Amino acid sequence: MSSIVCTLENVRVLKRSETGKPDRADVESAFRTIIRWTGDDPERDGLVDTPARVARAFEEYFAGYDQDPALILQKTFEIIEGYDEMIVLRGIRFESHCEHHLAPIIGRAWVAYIPSGRVVGISKLARVVEVYAKRLQIQEKMTAQIADAIEETLNPQGVGVIIKATHHCMSTRGVHQPDTDLVTSRMLGCFRDNALTRQEFLAMVDC
Ligand SMILES: [Zn+2]
Repeated sequence: MSSIVCTLENVRVLKRSETGKPDRADVESAFRTIIRWTGDDPERDGLVDTPARVARAFEEYFAGYDQDPALILQKTFEIIEGYDEMIVLRGIRFESHCEHHLAPIIGRAWVAYIPSGRVVGISKLARVVEVYAKRLQIQEKMTAQIADAIEETLNPQGVGVIIKATHHCMSTRGVHQPDTDLVTSRMLGCFRDNALTRQEFLAMVDC
């Protein structure tokens, strides 16, 4: 019996050292500690399955760490008709979490680029937003990461990203400002250098 336990322990230790991550049991135990710390009893009926549920929810909230935006953007199409105008995907809804409070950030992103030779499937732009959203974030960093990933992978003439979001760490706690939102932008290439291009993009952003 003790040798079986010992073997399971070894497997668990090996898994941890392989991935550098705590395993599910550690995470559930941490959530039980948090529930106890709030003053409630993690063993009572209504809460007994909560740590496992929260762990699964966190797997979904933070699924973006296992995904590489460069891989998502790698599959491109050659432009055969010489299209070199602005491509804009508007109002991409996302849910993220702030890295200061783990509180939700709920918002929309407008992502634009002017290609130089190759375009990417439009759903891929939404996927890149999602990958960065499903990590611990600050909005300014997320805005830059999305623009930089498109710039580095597609090498277009320019990229523009605007994000507008409400931060639950401001709306449901702290200063309690439910009606505020934060707008951030990053303009690269011709979106930064050419005022007309930037204006054309801004005119398509209904925020
Ligand atoms: Zn926060």
